[in-house]
Amino acid sequence: MKLEVWKFGGASLADGRAIQRAAQQIAAHRGPLVVVASALAGVTDLLLRGTPQAAVAFRTKHLQATRAVLGPGAPLRALTREIDTLTREYEDLCAAVTVLGYLDPRVQDAMVSRGERVSAQLLTAAVTRLKRRARLVDALDVVCTDDVHGGATPRLDDTRARARKVIGPVLASGAIALVPGYIGRAEDGSLTTLGRGGSDLTATVLARSLGARTVALWKDVPGILTADPRVVADARLIPQLHHREAAEVAHYGAKVLHPRALIPIAGTTISLHVRSFLNPALPGTEVSARQAITGYPVKALAMLPGQAVVTVAGKGMVGVHGMAARTFTAVDAEGLSVSTIFQASSESSIGFTIPESQAERAVRRLRQAFRHELEQGLIDGVTARPHMSVLAVVGEGMVGTPGISARVFAALESGGINVVAIAQGSSERNISLVVSSAQAPEAARRVHAAFQLSKIGGGQTTAKRHTDVVLLGFGRVGRALSDQIATAADRDVRIVGLLDRSGYVFDSKGLARARLLRLARDKDAGALLASLGGHKASAVEALSVMSSHAVSRPVIVDVTSDETGSLLQSAISRGFDVVLANKKPLAGSLETYDRLITVPAQSGRRVRYEATVGAGLPIIDTFRKLDDTGDRVLRIDGCVSGTLMFVLSEVSAGRPFSAAVREAMDRGYAEPDPRDDLSGRDAARKGLILARMLGYRGEAPKPDDLVPKPYAGLSLDTFLARLPELDAAWLTRVAALARKGRVLRYVVSATPRKVSAGLVEVAVSSPMGSASGTRNLVTFHSRRYSREPLVISGPGAGADVTAAGILNDIRSLGTS
Ligand code: ADP
Ligand code: ASP
Ligand code: MG
Repeated sequence: MKLEVWKFGGASLADGRAIQRAAQQIAAHRGPLVVVASALAGVTDLLLRGTPQAAVAFRTKHLQATRAVLGPGAPLRALTREIDTLTREYEDLCAAVTVLGYLDPRVQDAMVSRGERVSAQLLTAAVTRLKRRARLVDALDVVCTDDVHGGATPRLDDTRARARKVIGPVLASGAIALVPGYIGRAEDGSLTTLGRGGSDLTATVLARSLGARTVALWKDVPGILTADPRVVADARLIPQLHHREAAEVAHYGAKVLHPRALIPIAGTTISLHVRSFLNPALPGTEVSARQAITGYPVKALAMLPGQAVVTVAGKGMVGVHGMAARTFTAVDAEGLSVSTIFQASSESSIGFTIPESQAERAVRRLRQAFRHELEQGLIDGVTARPHMSVLAVVGEGMVGTPGISARVFAALESGGINVVAIAQGSSERNISLVVSSAQAPEAARRVHAAFQLSKIGGGQTTAKRHTDVVLLGFGRVGRALSDQIATAADRDVRIVGLLDRSGYVFDSKGLARARLLRLARDKDAGALLASLGGHKASAVEALSVMSSHAVSRPVIVDVTSDETGSLLQSAISRGFDVVLANKKPLAGSLETYDRLITVPAQSGRRVRYEATVGAGLPIIDTFRKLDDTGDRVLRIDGCVSGTLMFVLSEVSAGRPFSAAVREAMDRGYAEPDPRDDLSGRDAARKGLILARMLGYRGEAPKPDDLVPKPYAGLSLDTFLARLPELDAAWLTRVAALARKGRVLRYVVSATPRKVSAGLVEVAVSSPMGSASGTRNLVTFHSRRYSREPLVISGPGAGADVTAAGILNDIRSLGTS
């Protein structure tokens, strides 16, 4: 079996219980294993304080954990003695530092090293107690480094030789090797540390040295996320990253990985896994040489806080060669290393970022190096601007993908965030921006959102944005709409999902026309989406799946005739805009109406509902235009039911009522049960929607019902069979009216204070009286249109015109 190297981070070794869990996980592993231990959570910070109180806290914390893990016995006594010794040594070092008055980096390394030393011992004892053979290995015998105290780099060749010699036999004997992380030994024999987070590096160095297959870093996060979850709450797990991308994320300060941890394994086949200590069954993030999935150029954001921008500026620098070289030679001579470099194209300044704490040294050194230039006025000055952060946008596929910086800047501008400097790494794997630390978290959130990094498939930079439609209901209108979308000349509207009561079908790249046609055919035959290659789910579940994908300008289109109010609300809260052809949610309770119309507007979500009244006729649109231009609509009257217009105009022309109703059904004008139209309920809903648009807040109107009471409860068949019983009365009525030059129309009337729906006698010669067929006709009385109303008239029913009205709404969302 191939060797694995595991590292347990501080958070995974927080206390006795966590250590016990780690030990169990280690003991349960089959196959050769090297375990690298970090100090317990918070211990390194504690030790860096160098105070007597820190010594006490160090001792207490470890004694507590040890007692919790080991229970009484020899191992507990041995470790207690060791903790006491390490504490005493620490106190002595602190005292020496106080006497000397300054902290030598060597001494500091010696002080903090005990965090890892004791945790590794404790973990070894805990594993041994679980009857698994485990051997503690001294990191100083294995990890050979250079002599940069506080940030040493392992020397690979020497470390490899030592590791094989020291750890090789342990593994060969079948025992698990446990090694303290973070520490090593320089050539002069002194103890070194590898920089904060250095246990990650210990793990990868050992993996390389021993030819391991994988390295697992067990952490308190599910893996490497698209951003630091403490800053960007909806940061998402990245399943796979290329070594180079992860290196970039780490370099730019994502604490999740030591900045140099990937160096030892870059170019090897060793894969690194950042995994969840709390949920070991999850795969976490794989970092490997596998070429990252293409098509998603932007992978992650990293943020390096606590930086200062140091600038060397002056007109005299223009065109003078060697300025950059001298700048960085000076910084290097001071032993400092910069994180980003930028130069304005005018060449009148060179700048870089450096940890705040080192800015003063850098400035001093640079002023010295440019003494002459400063004296002669060739350089205006060397300055440092503190409280800055570097925000890096990282991704392998960014090479040659246009539009990325534009998107970044648009996002920052929308938040009023000032970019102090920008640098594009020559690798084009990252764009780094310098922003003030105060604005950095907001900057990270804005850029994260702009690339939809919280979504599956996020990180794309499609220059042209389209609108992604999810259809709620897939009946005649839904199909007409999908046809119109599929045959439209441009491709800026796509259908990505369908929902019915059984489940959903979804493809974030858009459902192909052929697929939609097939679904339509099968649905006609009575099948449900869940059985047509879709997923079984409730509508709310389906929406939550869909909204977890990176869809663009999502719109949910309601072409059902159900009570969908709460479902639409939940779509709105998930970022959908809404287009309705369904009247019910808008003609129900005022509360639901407000939640759909008033509330979303406050959060920037938009709801359109042109097709609820007059199908494709621009009725609501006209109201908006009048209203927007300062007119005041006082009253809207309308014949808004195609079926009722048809039936009444036929009857007025002498046709029997029953025959007219039958024909309206045969032609597909009427609802499946024509009583839904004849009752006036549907027209009343439209009237209410119009009235609410004018500001009406009262009750729904009680419509005149064209179906006499005794007929309302009959089965459809019986009703249709008995329909001719009504013919005679209608004939008499229209004949009497005809003599007066009048006809019957079904009219809704809406004002801000009143709404009604019922039969009205109108003059044959009036616009309403002369209309026929399924024509809808709506008149607006307004301040401007006071003497003669504004009339909108045209076919007000039919799948095609309704779909056209919906498509218009969808497009208006895309452009506004
Ligand atoms: P360890 O316990 O192994 O030392 P760290 O505490 O060093 O682990 O790293 C994990 C922490 O890094 C997380 O708790 C998280 O707050 C932070 N972090 C910053 N950026 C990221 C990121 N992109 N993905 C995951 N975690 C991140
Ligand atoms: N304990 C060290 C630190 O806190 C090293 C590590 O945890 O990797 O930086
Ligand atoms: Mg760490």
